Amino acid sequence: MPRLLSELLRQLRLPTALGLGGAVLGGIQGALIGVLSGCLILLGLQLRQQMRLVAWLERNDGLVPPATGNGLWDEVWLNLVRQLKQQASARARLESTVKRFESAAEAIPEGVIALAPDNRITWMNSLAEKHFSLDARRDIDKMVNHLVRSPRFKDYLAAGDFRRPLLLHPTHQPSLALQVFVVAFAGEQTLILSRDVSDREQVERMRRDFVANVSHELRTPLTVVSGFIETLHELKGRAAASALPQILPLLEKQTQRMQSLVSDLLTLARLESTPEAPPMTEIDVGALVRTLMVEVDALSGNQHPLSSEIDDHLHLLGAPSEVRSVLSNLLSNAVRYTPAGSRIDIQWLRSVDMYGSPCGVFTVRDSGPGIAAEHLPRLTERFYRVDSGRSRDSGGTGLGLAIVKHVLTRHGGHLEVESTVGKGSEFRATFPPERLVTVASDQP
Ligand code: ADP
Repeated sequence: MPRLLSELLRQLRLPTALGLGGAVLGGIQGALIGVLSGCLILLGLQLRQQMRLVAWLERNDGLVPPATGNGLWDEVWLNLVRQLKQQASARARLESTVKRFESAAEAIPEGVIALAPDNRITWMNSLAEKHFSLDARRDIDKMVNHLVRSPRFKDYLAAGDFRRPLLLHPTHQPSLALQVFVVAFAGEQTLILSRDVSDREQVERMRRDFVANVSHELRTPLTVVSGFIETLHELKGRAAASALPQILPLLEKQTQRMQSLVSDLLTLARLESTPEAPPMTEIDVGALVRTLMVEVDALSGNQHPLSSEIDDHLHLLGAPSEVRSVLSNLLSNAVRYTPAGSRIDIQWLRSVDMYGSPCGVFTVRDSGPGIAAEHLPRLTERFYRVDSGRSRDSGGTGLGLAIVKHVLTRHGGHLEVESTVGKGSEFRATFPPERLVTVASDQP
């Protein structure tokens, strides 16, 4: 109130002064004219300020207007400018919070879609665009259940029971496995979160296949063994004793088959559970190859002409038992999958791999039936066989090349296979230069 009074008195100074001047000059009439003109001048001044305000608001250029010398109006300007500044900094803060939220939501390793209560999309991150084949620029404000075509997704949203996540294989990408969660936030709104679980699904599928394969591999020998035991039970006494010489070798063969399977499985399990690089024990590969050639010659019954080219100065740094299993697997495969009389050439030399990088290469080249191209990429899969009958008959477990691949990878090398049907196959086990040593000629 005192402020109002003092302002009123201040504003009235001009009409009062003009009124007094008018009274001195022209009596009452002069005073009235003086007061009236004072009021008109005041009104004009106020109008001018209002026009400046309107023009300033329209310009909206953020420039501070110059002081007017009019106390009240200057205060108005000052307050307006201060408030505008506060608003601008609040907006900047809000914008940076939104930007931070958006980049945080982008960094989340899950797809995120925000939905309004009527299931309209209000926001989504780029992973959600990828998971559900959506486009944020096109699909914001559209109903999510119209865009994601999967009937299972629609039913899940409609049922409204989100205690368990939904496992979804989007229709546009059936190989993708998504775990979808729906959570409520800010009252009636919802968030859809999608997590890519394709890898987990694949591991689970591989585990199931593996268990099925092992069971399948064990079932045949077990059936044979239990069949013979039953026969022996039925025969009893002397008849059983006379059947034994025929039955025992067959029982032995099946038992050996199971033993090889268990032994290869244990080797694979050991390789997988020791991720650290194998030791750098120096291996005289030439000597090892010669020992293995004798064993392989016995396996072949001397039926395969073997030739070798070996760099005896080239030694390898690695795990001796693992390297032995690589060489012996490749050599025994060459004998087991090629008919009697087929040549087998063996090499251990410095060379270059298929990428042109220097390496030590152990090569086994046979002139057997060869392998059709479509099988080559799958040869190192566990239990993958091109010729199942021949593999089983010759005591194969279907795990040999899987072990070879594992060992080579652990040693920093790899397996290269070339094959032509009707002509033969070439298997090359490569080892990187850092695992090779050249020994002087007088060093054995
Ligand atoms: P297996 O114990 O059955 O020999 P491997 O993993 O060693 O298993 O080999 C996988 C398959 O690759 C074999 O079953 C066989 O069909 C094929 N294979 C391997 N080596 C040769 C070869 N030298 N010639 C023809 N086929 C081969």
